[in-house]
Amino acid sequence: GRKFVAVVGRPNVGKSTLFNKLAGKRIAIVDDKPGVTRDRIYAKAEWLQHEFTLIDTGGIEPKADDIILAQMRRQALIAIETCDVIMFVVDGKLGMTDADNEVALMLRKSGKPVVLVVNKLEKRSEEANLYEFYNLGLGTPIPISATQALGLGDMLDEVVAHF
Ligand code: GDP
Ligand code: MG
Repeated sequence: GRKFVAVVGRPNVGKSTLFNKLAGKRIAIVDDKPGVTRDRIYAKAEWLQHEFTLIDTGGIEPKADDIILAQMRRQALIAIETCDVIMFVVDGKLGMTDADNEVALMLRKSGKPVVLVVNKLEKRSEEANLYEFYNLGLGTPIPISATQALGLGDMLDEVVAHF
């Protein structure tokens, strides 16, 4: 059947920007269990011969750091439970954070396929920032710029390779 791909990562890394770039047409805003699924947005997407459902897991923008961590844990759990492939988005301008590390640990334990996406790398001078993300232990980090639509093809090749 149709594959599910979740976009996970802390606020402000560019998940929604990426989601909107990849989404064909929005199909639903789920609003059943408060605080769990209300903030998930689904869209159909396709790449080459593959159709899939994309899930933007980050609809709530928390204020405090501990809330960000809690939200990321929750997002990661939802993604782990319901998805075939997880796109873990991090901020290549800002670099690696403790929250990134913590979610990476959960994602690794899950055994689900994870594509590590390093966003905001539109400038050559920032490409060196890619390498520290190898330390997350999630394989080869893939550089993209969601706003400039750079690197999305290579990223999607990696996603559909796990179907
Ligand atoms: P989310 O909270 O993870 O969903 O992040 P958003 O998609 O809302 O983006 C957060 C901010 O990052 C916005 O100001 C975006 O314009 C910016 N942003 C997203 N993608 C890129 C990118 O590829 N490059 C740069 N420089 N900024 C980006
Ligand atoms: Mg968002």
